[in-house]
Amino acid sequence: MAPTPGDLRPETVAVAAGRPPREPGAPLNVSPMLASVFHAGAYVPGMEEDPEYGRDTNATWQALEQALGTLEGGHCVLFASGVAAISAVVDELGLPGPVVAPADAYTGSRALLARLEERGRLTSRLVDIADTEATLAACDGARLLWVETPTNPLLAIADLRALATGAHAAGVAVAVDNTFATPLLQRPLDLGADVAVHSVTKLIAGHSDVLMGAAVTADAGLARALRAHRYEHGAIPGPLAAYLALRGLRTLPLRLERAQANAGVLAERLDTDPRVTRVWYPGLAAHPGHDRAAAQMKGHGAMVAFDVAGPAGAAARVCTATRLAVYATSLGGIETTLEDRARQPGEGHLPPELIRLSVGCEHVEDLWADLDQALGAAAERAAPPAWQREPGSGAGR
Ligand SMILES: *Cc1c(COP(=O)(O)O)cnc(C)c1O
Repeated sequence: MAPTPGDLRPETVAVAAGRPPREPGAPLNVSPMLASVFHAGAYVPGMEEDPEYGRDTNATWQALEQALGTLEGGHCVLFASGVAAISAVVDELGLPGPVVAPADAYTGSRALLARLEERGRLTSRLVDIADTEATLAACDGARLLWVETPTNPLLAIADLRALATGAHAAGVAVAVDNTFATPLLQRPLDLGADVAVHSVTKLIAGHSDVLMGAAVTADAGLARALRAHRYEHGAIPGPLAAYLALRGLRTLPLRLERAQANAGVLAERLDTDPRVTRVWYPGLAAHPGHDRAAAQMKGHGAMVAFDVAGPAGAAARVCTATRLAVYATSLGGIETTLEDRARQPGEGHLPPELIRLSVGCEHVEDLWADLDQALGAAAERAAPPAWQREPGSGAGR
């Protein structure tokens, strides 16, 4: 594969990296390498990856690994899903703990830590990751600091450089879930983290049709350990999924630019809407992490959370009243999705009427018109017509 210079701008890397050599007759793209086994004779003892078997490496993975690794500034190791990447990093760097992690981290990360703890394989300490002092105090005697910033779904912003510096001074490794930011907006390795983790499923693949994960580290030894983990535990991505994710990555800069611009407009309008009680978006000046985000991120991302006014069930009513935005879990697709997040297991700490909105690439005025009518329809349904409320009218059974 042709190497991609690391000094190209990220928008260019996304387009140019992970291509086959420029030879007459060669294709422009790496194809999905649908092979589990290859002719013997390519393996030489001491090789890091055995090119003869599909659980070890695959040409389509390598193309995506090169592109994503260049974008994050390290060696990329793909996994079957974001959770598989998280699990591998926790196994390699976190066991037996303590692992310090955000109390409002992605629900799957918290579930993994809780499960390992239940089985006596690890201890964890949950913290407010936006509180640098408290987080570093919890790092005393810990093995791994697990950071997520912005957090899913409350968009808390952690001070990456201060946390990495403080944790390393205490001998604690630092991993960052960079899913919400993507390497286009934030590069955790540059800010001192040991490893950045992604749910490639989300913005990077970007079309709601692939599950994949990645861990990226500048430490060659850790990269080797993660590759060995993938080989031994078997959480490998499919070649076709890797092909689709690489295709998605090509347009990530364009999609993110549009989705983020849309998110900024929607967050501002929701923020002044009387049917909404609170909006969480780091781009809003009132967001507690606004300045920190401005210092360490190149943008505020495409995720918005907001709390709907009204009686119980208001958020669900909004979600079922949209006609354009899709009522669905997950995020980062080209299409706008939303969900009443507190309905999910493990999300009981969230405001009950919180909506997590993953803003896509539609025209912002169509999105706003849709949200506006859904908020209106939900408010109407919440308030029964007057004749139904009149006692003794006999109606409204
Ligand atoms: C979705 C998500 C994950 C898990 O990724 P999967 O690909 O679903 O396994 C991890 N972290 C964050 C922040 C996520 O949003």
